[in-house]
Amino acid sequence: MTGTNKPHDEQSQQPPVTEPAAAGRRPQDILIVGGSLSGLFAAILLKRQGHNITVLEAAPSSAREGQAAGVGLAADVKRFFDQHDRLKHIPFGTAMTEVQILGPNLEPVHRIPAPFSQTTCDATYYRLRANFDGLVSGYCPEPPAREAGDGEPGFQTGARVLKVDSISGTMTVSATDAATSEQRTYEADIVIAADGASSIIRRQLYPGVHRSEPGFLIWRGIVPVTSLSASLLERVKDRTLLYPMRNSYLILYTIPGPNGSLKEADRAINFAWYDWPSATTTITGILTDTDGHTHRTTLPKGKMRAEIREAQLERAREMFHPELLELPLKLTEPFVSVISSVMAPKATAFDNRLFFIGDALVQLQPNSGQGTNHAAREAVSLAEVFAGSITAEEWEAKVLETARAERLTSQEFPKKWLYSASENGEVKA
Ligand SMILES: Cc1cc2nc3c(=O)[nH]c(=O)nc-3n(C[C@H](O)[C@H](O)[C@H](O)COP(=O)(O)OP(=O)(O)OC[C@H]3O[C@@H](n4cnc5c(N)ncnc54)[C@H](O)[C@@H]3O)c2cc1C
Repeated sequence: MTGTNKPHDEQSQQPPVTEPAAAGRRPQDILIVGGSLSGLFAAILLKRQGHNITVLEAAPSSAREGQAAGVGLAADVKRFFDQHDRLKHIPFGTAMTEVQILGPNLEPVHRIPAPFSQTTCDATYYRLRANFDGLVSGYCPEPPAREAGDGEPGFQTGARVLKVDSISGTMTVSATDAATSEQRTYEADIVIAADGASSIIRRQLYPGVHRSEPGFLIWRGIVPVTSLSASLLERVKDRTLLYPMRNSYLILYTIPGPNGSLKEADRAINFAWYDWPSATTTITGILTDTDGHTHRTTLPKGKMRAEIREAQLERAREMFHPELLELPLKLTEPFVSVISSVMAPKATAFDNRLFFIGDALVQLQPNSGQGTNHAAREAVSLAEVFAGSITAEEWEAKVLETARAERLTSQEFPKKWLYSASENGEVKA
């Protein structure tokens, strides 16, 4: 699919349809805006139905280094990989058996069975890229071969989408080329908006929809297991730990190491601390980096000002059980995100020629750890629309109902700890 310079002033004359045009009957040209996890889940499934896929990704290259943040392979993600991963003979997650909620002295207070795996965003991304367009990486040095019946895969980096439109029934997407700053127009039968929580397409179609921000943050980072004490490693082995403090809580679990290595010595502990700004800090101050630039939602790795890190360490010294203190002290390049959630009011547009999935459809508060899970589920059910087994209306009704419920759950889930934990960290019933 190549860019064109067609004018943008016509509106769709196409009558409404209840399925993507000729669903399952002829290969469609599909543009996916956003080449992260949700875009790639959909890209793989639709390519394997024989459709021709072009992913437009704003990032200047395919490399995803420095996002070694943990991600859980919850039920729908696990199902996706069990059924569709052509590299499934190569494991890529660290197994766990349960979530343990700890008391003030780190004793297990509740144990919730959770037979899932944990991995990293990087490992998941590269695994999906290997399956989609055969990207060779340190994570997947030998991608699977393209198979008979697969459509044509394309992944265009440096393409920042500005606007989507429908011109005489053809979907058009305008994007800026990062290398040349030129504007290009792409044409397709179908557009899938997978451009994340700040989705430009959601903002174009629903400018009145804004993020909801409860006011707390997540401090994240990883600590190589080789730098941690044996006692702490034993506590976190094969499980996720949730440690409540006063109006604050910490989540810990084990993730693979560099290039997805599962060797014990290569692994790391994923650290995620949900906390409010302290008496001496503000969200704006925390998000202002070492160059003086204030970020909107995430302060990236390597950009935290020394005084901000020190203020949070001081807070950890006051709040953490002493055995946990080595974690914030040894974090490699911590980063911080403002907690938010947002949801599009509709999942389809342009007479069922545009579909929202992933965080562009609904960003859950990350507290519930279900963001990747809903992205996988939406992609799987969207593929059913293209296969003709459900209509676009049925898909939309289903994903909107589930998204509303999951968003509410993700907002309610942390309240028990962030709003009502007692002073000594004991959880109130
Ligand atoms: C702090 C935090 C912690 C999280 N923790 C977890 C967790 O533990 N477990 C879990 O399951 N999920 C977690 N999530 C959620 C998870 O990361 C996402 O829900 C999931 O990866 C799906 O994201 P996505 O692909 O829809 O969007 P994103 O990952 O945001 O990807 C959007 C993509 O679109 C691209 N893009 C954006 N705008 C444009 C444009 N205009 N043109 C072209 N490309 C564009 C971006 O560059 C990006 O590649 C967390 C999220 C946050 C913020």
